[in-house]
Amino acid sequence: MAIWQREIITFLLLFFAVCVIGLFTKLFLPLLLVLMIFLLCRHLYQIHRFEKWLRMGRQNIYPKTTGVWEEIYYHVYRIRKNNKRRKKKLSKMVDQFRESTEALPDAAVVLNATDEIEWANKAARDVLGLKQSDKGQRIPNLIRFPEFIQYLKSKQYDEPVILPSPINNKITLAVRIIKYGAGLRLLLAQDVTQLKQMERMRKDFVANVSHELRTPLTVIKGYLETLQDVDEGMSPLLTNSLKNMLGQTDRMQYLVDGLLLLAHLETKSKKHEVINVPDLLMQICHEHEALLGDGRIELTLDSDAKLVGEEHELRSAFTNLLGNALKYSPEDTLIKLHWYQTSDALLLDVIDQGEGISVADISRVTERFYRVENKRDKKVNGTGLGLAIVKHVLMRHDAHLIIRSELGKGSCFQCTFPIQRLGE
Ligand code: ADP
Repeated sequence: MAIWQREIITFLLLFFAVCVIGLFTKLFLPLLLVLMIFLLCRHLYQIHRFEKWLRMGRQNIYPKTTGVWEEIYYHVYRIRKNNKRRKKKLSKMVDQFRESTEALPDAAVVLNATDEIEWANKAARDVLGLKQSDKGQRIPNLIRFPEFIQYLKSKQYDEPVILPSPINNKITLAVRIIKYGAGLRLLLAQDVTQLKQMERMRKDFVANVSHELRTPLTVIKGYLETLQDVDEGMSPLLTNSLKNMLGQTDRMQYLVDGLLLLAHLETKSKKHEVINVPDLLMQICHEHEALLGDGRIELTLDSDAKLVGEEHELRSAFTNLLGNALKYSPEDTLIKLHWYQTSDALLLDVIDQGEGISVADISRVTERFYRVENKRDKKVNGTGLGLAIVKHVLMRHDAHLIIRSELGKGSCFQCTFPIQRLGE
């Protein structure tokens, strides 16, 4: 029988007994009053005991009692026990998590919404020089590199920022911030010294090899041109071979020059000069027109804005874009160049009505050596380095390249420079 049913039956039996005795003694109402006072006192006493038990916080035992109160004690006791078990499990998990993050080779620091350190692991102390006592300190007061402070303020944490370690400048760190919870951020710093060293070695290697290949190539080309001059066309095989060899040497020279330029773009410090872009574009267009002489280029200058940057690099990028537009579109189509300005950018559009690029290829054409294999009527020479050079040059000018293209209809290569680059 359920405990509540038993409680009600007991009450009904007592009430019945009072009714019977009351009938015989004619004292029904006083007896009923006594019964009510008794029941009320009993429950008040139980409530007092229960409140005392809760207040004392004793978890192992509960006072001996009967009826519905035993049931109430038992349920509360069970809930408390479960909570205790859960709390124990949770704190064990937190301890395990702390231990594992302590053992992480990467530095990890938890920052609150006001950039104060909430917690840091051992690696953070070793590699960032943080101390236990730094808890609660603002991180920009401890890691004072301007690029780090700017990164922290920017709230744009997609890419990591590369910094030397504050306690050992031979160590290079890739620092990244991850947002989580309500205003909390996790700062992770990974030691990328070896990676950066290998990258530098690769760049140096490519630059050195390209540089060393230049002289032998010039010599070979010189001899081939001399041989071509003395060839009297007696042997068609020899004439053809010399032509092919010269073609391949030219291609190799072009490739080596491209690689060397890319290596320079990756390593050279940036120069800041004011470039008259309209003049530069006019020069480039005239050079191509002089070479082709077919009036295919239409240049529209809607702005006389000058740009802060490096002329040699921009010349190379714009020449590549115009060269590609000419290479990859039919000879009877127009190439349009448009230089203009908006409230927040300076823009150059290079528009052609050529073969276009598929969506899948658009994201890849700026990779080194990537060439789209199209079934063209005539073979188009190239190295696959042109757009990689364009991308690098634009990156060095805080600009970006947007490619819009439709297969069979044409392409628009848009260079967008931030207005901050506007030169006086
Ligand atoms: P290259 O022209 O030497 O092959 P690029 O890096 O300049 O190398 O270009 C990469 C590829 O992108 C080219 O092989 C070509 O398929 C494609 N491409 C570049 N510009 C255009 C364009 N204006 N129209 C169509 N395809 C283009």
